[in-house]
Amino acid sequence: MSKLHISYNQIHESIRQSVDRYHINDNFKPDLMIAIGGGGFIPARMLRTFLKKTERGNIPIQAIGLSLYEELANAGGEEKPGTQVQKTQWLNFGASHSEISLLGRRILIVDEVDDTRTTLAYAVEELKKDVEAEEIRRGMKPGESNTTFGVFVLHNKIKPKKRDLPEDIMKNYFAAVEMPDQWLVYPWDAVDIESHTELANKNA
Ligand code: 5GP
Repeated sequence: MSKLHISYNQIHESIRQSVDRYHINDNFKPDLMIAIGGGGFIPARMLRTFLKKTERGNIPIQAIGLSLYEELANAGGEEKPGTQVQKTQWLNFGASHSEISLLGRRILIVDEVDDTRTTLAYAVEELKKDVEAEEIRRGMKPGESNTTFGVFVLHNKIKPKKRDLPEDIMKNYFAAVEMPDQWLVYPWDAVDIESHTELANKNA
């Protein structure tokens, strides 16, 4: 598979342009970001630079950790690989000692790349479950809190996806760049950042 090196500056600029292109500050207006670690951390922090502050100040960035692994699923006696996601870190919003709640928020889930969509679909599903559980705990009906989710990724690979995102999420789906299917090499993985940046600039 071909590889594409991407520099910090290219990422910064793609994020800036996409916030304008999607009018994120006028339409979705996030008031909380949930970054999927580790790839979503740096993009979320860069993105915050271009997002309007709320009356409470900078938009908070919370983190969740997810890892993707291949599992042998036994389908009708036939062993075939399936893709599973595991939580390695999660929020403690809504816990009895936590003053922060997910309810009523406009939450932007941030990751670096949407490849097969497995990770994002899992994150959305689990976060929606958390919202529903918190609603029930507070005596509300499911959905009553009007909590809204969106997704921001640096790169969406144009390819058949293994999972879909719900329609309401796709209304607030923002990909800074749409890409053909190829392996993306991010600057935070570079051991030699100078040669990485040179390669990225050559591709530009
Ligand atoms: P998914 O297949 O669930 O959409 O993506 C899972 C994870 O695989 C991503 O969060 C990312 O860590 C990794 N991944 C997928 N494609 C690429 C890629 O082209 N480059 C890098 N560096 N990681 C990737």
